[in-house]
Amino acid sequence: MKRVHSFNRFMNRRASANCRYQPTCYEHAANCYTHALLIVPAFVGMAFLHRLSDNSWERITAWVYGMGLCALFLVSTVFHIITWKKSHMRSVEHCFHMCDRVVIYFFIAASYTPWLNLRELGPLAAHMRWFVWLMAAAGTIYVFNYHERYKLVELAFYLTMGFFPASVMTSMSNTEGLHELACGGLIYCLGVFFFKSDGVIPFAHAIWHVFVALAAAVHYYAIWKYLYKAPSSDTLLDL
Ligand SMILES: [Zn+2]
Repeated sequence: MKRVHSFNRFMNRRASANCRYQPTCYEHAANCYTHALLIVPAFVGMAFLHRLSDNSWERITAWVYGMGLCALFLVSTVFHIITWKKSHMRSVEHCFHMCDRVVIYFFIAASYTPWLNLRELGPLAAHMRWFVWLMAAAGTIYVFNYHERYKLVELAFYLTMGFFPASVMTSMSNTEGLHELACGGLIYCLGVFFFKSDGVIPFAHAIWHVFVALAAAVHYYAIWKYLYKAPSSDTLLDL
């Protein structure tokens, strides 16, 4: 009985339908720290890719991708701090919750950007360069209109946005790095299990954050290794 009691300190009950799970203070802290610790590395990573850039197209791409990376960890951290410390400010919290969800769409678009911009694509596949941002904009409109109303639809949108742009990767003449890209995608998918396990597994959301960080690190590694470190033989300098 005592064991059950001490276990409860780390996790609250699962939320009922259409309600949000209320984390314990330990979970709140873990949610904040797991992403707060990555803000500085994300900025350093962006600056590093910027420095490795050989031309303005690579520099713009490094900036867009880096901003997506930084925004994800920054917005997530601010949202979790507000949920923890300022939950009485309902409208502010609601606004940041929407931003936390919107930033995921832009982060997915930003994560694909280096591959779409710096690799040669087929004529039809090249349209994915702007289409990913259109999908991010559509996701944003969805969040502002139906935030938290249809959770499974939202998850389906994230998965579609996460996987659909990958379909054009097959048209690449150079397929180096696609294993790492798939590996990162798989880590995100495994993380979704924890994203959906609030109130079932203690610290589920913080574990989800760790999966996000790992997947983002794998993708960063691939982008650095195959698109920036290697000689830029097939960049789109001629565009
Ligand atoms: Zn979170």
